Amino acid sequence: MKNSQREPKTKKTSSNNALPILLGAHMSIAGGVPTAVERAKRIGCTTMQMFVKNNNQWRGKPLTVEDASTYKKLLSESRIGPVVVHDTYLINLCAVNKDILQKSRIALKDEMDRCEMLGVEYLNFYPGAHMGAGEEDGIKRIAESLNLIHDQTKGYRVKSVLETTAGQGTAIGYRFEQLREIIDLVEQRDRMAVCVDTCHVFVAGYDIVTEKGYQQTFEEFDAIIGLDRLVAFHVNDSKREIGSRVDRHEHIGKGYIGKKGFSFLMNDPRFVNIPKILETPKGEDMKEDMMNMRVLRELVKDGERQRLKKYR
Ligand code: MN
Ligand code: MN
Repeated sequence: MKNSQREPKTKKTSSNNALPILLGAHMSIAGGVPTAVERAKRIGCTTMQMFVKNNNQWRGKPLTVEDASTYKKLLSESRIGPVVVHDTYLINLCAVNKDILQKSRIALKDEMDRCEMLGVEYLNFYPGAHMGAGEEDGIKRIAESLNLIHDQTKGYRVKSVLETTAGQGTAIGYRFEQLREIIDLVEQRDRMAVCVDTCHVFVAGYDIVTEKGYQQTFEEFDAIIGLDRLVAFHVNDSKREIGSRVDRHEHIGKGYIGKKGFSFLMNDPRFVNIPKILETPKGEDMKEDMMNMRVLRELVKDGERQRLKKYR
């Protein structure tokens, strides 16, 4: 009888079309932050990611109160949310160069201010690259950076979201253990969360392509980090092989993860309420996003068909 208590409100046999899939993509902010919401709406996103400033400059134009209120109004009129913000690529929270480290800390704090002003739930960033200083050293410095930034942003609601990395170069975060160590060293631990990038974990060596490997990967995640910290997925296929540690995103179903790999994730009842966001190559008309979202939605329908077969 345990199962019936946890039964979702919709009947097993009901059409799957009504199932709310939290699916979206990284949206451009060309023309201002509010335009990201308009773009996401146009292609039927139910969640989205964006930058909140130019992604390859240390300093961005300040966010105006007007921008923030327009953004909030548009978002409240949409069915989009939660929203994830991706930080600028220049930030390295464990940079060895003192000047870069200082700039990184100021820049991430600025990103946090912007998120708070917009009411954004999640600020996603890479843990950092140790630049030869070693992983232990890097992990300590990342936590130190986060402690300093959190101290300056007490009471903020936006979560600090560590993204799993591919482990290119000296990047930290390609093992769940490394993320765990960072979280353990952070004082305001309730502010910490994790985003799993499917391309990154795959090339980092986690087999999410076979059913057994997929289950093991998330069992490990749960044992080491805890599934309660998992707040977002970046859904990207991979141009490169498992374990290659080379980060090249591919359209869904056209890379080494493949449709089968994504079907496990898309049909996992534990992750129904977790945003799934595309970071795949795209043009201005976003037709690639629409294509990739269609492929992912179809996988849910296929999965549902498989489940229904089992009941017969
Ligand atoms: Mn990513
Ligand atoms: Mn990547």
